[in-house]
Amino acid sequence: LQQVYGPLSMLGTLYRVVSNNLVDTDKLMALLQEQTEIKDAPDAKDLVVTDGVIEFDNVRFSYDGKVEALKGLSFKIDRRSSVALVGESGAGKSSVLRLLYRFYDIDSGRILIDGQDIRKVTQKSLRRAIGVVPQEPSLFNTDIRHNILYGNPKASDEAVEAAALAAQIHDRILSFPDGYSTVVGERGVRLSGGEKQRVAIARTILKNPPILLLDEATSALDSQTERQLQGALNTVMEGRSSLSIAHRLGTIINVDTIIVMDAGVVVESGSHAELLAKGGRYSKMWEQQIKTQKEQEAASAAMEQA
Ligand code: ADP
Ligand code: MG
Repeated sequence: LQQVYGPLSMLGTLYRVVSNNLVDTDKLMALLQEQTEIKDAPDAKDLVVTDGVIEFDNVRFSYDGKVEALKGLSFKIDRRSSVALVGESGAGKSSVLRLLYRFYDIDSGRILIDGQDIRKVTQKSLRRAIGVVPQEPSLFNTDIRHNILYGNPKASDEAVEAAALAAQIHDRILSFPDGYSTVVGERGVRLSGGEKQRVAIARTILKNPPILLLDEATSALDSQTERQLQGALNTVMEGRSSLSIAHRLGTIINVDTIIVMDAGVVVESGSHAELLAKGGRYSKMWEQQIKTQKEQEAASAAMEQA
């Protein structure tokens, strides 16, 4: 029995790790495909992305069949535009990203990409169309070049370096003892959270997907890291449809549409300026963010003085 259940439970664990972190890991997904409850429909076709219009239409979803995480969620992302989800912890933001990647199937409603219901397309074509920048990207214990190549194993050295440059991580890589051949990860050079996210952005630039999912790190960043990360994000979001979970002020101000979620529904949406003018839920969250940021800046200024 152990022989049967051992590997299966190992795969179960891996699957949970992957779904929790939204790791963009095609190899793992191929390995795990058999184990997931999500199956391709018998007549599934490949997803064809033309404009990257994404629509959640009255989506209801529960993880356990009891408590609903999404309670009739509707919103639309226009052609190549950027949407940021904001809201308290537990509002359902991560669930939206997981459902678009189809880690789970929804209970009712529809999720459409360019008019195609994601339950009717092959998972392979869906995941090929979507690039993911997770909150805590994992690095493999191999050199930094291969960590970036992961986004597109056939890419040339020049393309890898161009992607790293665009993701504002190239100079940091050149500072490593063996440059692009330096081993990173647990057994090599350790990168900070912001640096790992830039590596994940470089991977995504190489992958060049029409749709981007982004879960921003919540941790406070120093102002240089912040600028580099924002620059990298602006580059990778350019010309794609993107859905991000936003925590950082720079991202929030720049996106086309902000969607404020609460308890599994949309409570407000609009541009930063529109929502501020409205003086509702978002404007209160914004004031709080500004306050927090000022406190952080004061704290780091005090650190530099000391
Ligand atoms: P957010 O990202 O906005 O913090 P989530 O989408 O993670 O919100 O969570 C929405 C709701 O779903 C919460 O009530 C949360 O407890 C629940 N939830 C999230 N992930 C799981 C899971 N894997 N199993 C069961 N419930 C979950
Ligand atoms: Mg979350």
